[in-house]
Amino acid sequence: MANKKIYIGSHVSMNAPEFYLGSVKEALSYGSTTFMFYTGAPQNTYRKPVNELKIAEGRKLIKEAGLDESKLIVHAPYIINAANKAKEGLFDLSKDVIVSELQRTAAFGASILVLHPGAHVSQGFDLAINNLAEALDEIFERDGTNVRIALETMAGKGTEIGITFEQIAEIIKECHHPERLGVCLDTCHISDAGYDVHDVDGILKEFDNIIGLDRLLVVHINDSKNPRGAHKDRHENIGYGYVGFDTLYKFIHHPLLDNVPKILETPYINEKPPYKQEIEMLLSGKFDPNWRDSFN
Ligand code: FE
Ligand code: FE
Ligand code: ZN
Repeated sequence: MANKKIYIGSHVSMNAPEFYLGSVKEALSYGSTTFMFYTGAPQNTYRKPVNELKIAEGRKLIKEAGLDESKLIVHAPYIINAANKAKEGLFDLSKDVIVSELQRTAAFGASILVLHPGAHVSQGFDLAINNLAEALDEIFERDGTNVRIALETMAGKGTEIGITFEQIAEIIKECHHPERLGVCLDTCHISDAGYDVHDVDGILKEFDNIIGLDRLLVVHINDSKNPRGAHKDRHENIGYGYVGFDTLYKFIHHPLLDNVPKILETPYINEKPPYKQEIEMLLSGKFDPNWRDSFN
């Protein structure tokens, strides 16, 4: 087990002038073996054309560094909502944005796009799940790629859907292209949604029974500022929240998750990224309770 390869990294930025090349450099500077990025700002749908993003240069560095491109993750913007049809403009825009995000993901040589399932607003879970499955059908008929969408397990803030494994399984069942769908399990979100995140074996068993572990494409490794069931979705640094270091360490090293990329989305501390230290501790298993002090 000593040299077991673990796919671990964080979300990274993509800014001028180096764009994707800069993203790859940032990931490598944390000691990452994979990473996640947004192809533009997470909060809006404005996107620069892919030919301006130094993709070839980034991919060259990925190859030189020995990273496995099939483990890279793209995250879709979060303001879209393909689960509610009441606002027709937003429903159509959301489908267009997801089609474009799938095509952009393919242009980076990546094959997994994380998507928040959306919110039912006032329509209830069942209708929202139908709407999303219908939207996904149309999206997969239009996009022309083989990129898979990983539906993220959500915390249950507001009227979010996808907050139980059953809801995620239902979306996959209703979609006519289930081979294009997988799941992103977020440790902060499942705890906030009400799962006992500390029972890692139990969680994975339940996931396997309801969804199937073969669908688990990525795990988001985050601590939570709030207790189990709080439905808040506020991420905390590793070891400082209600999930805790030992549980997050178990997710990183669990044999059932060997090939699954693990991505940290923990908050910056005094405008500095915490990922190098967090990744180091999660790999070594040695938690330093004062590690954040060096950021002050
Ligand atoms: Fe997310
Ligand atoms: Fe997440
Ligand atoms: Zn979150």
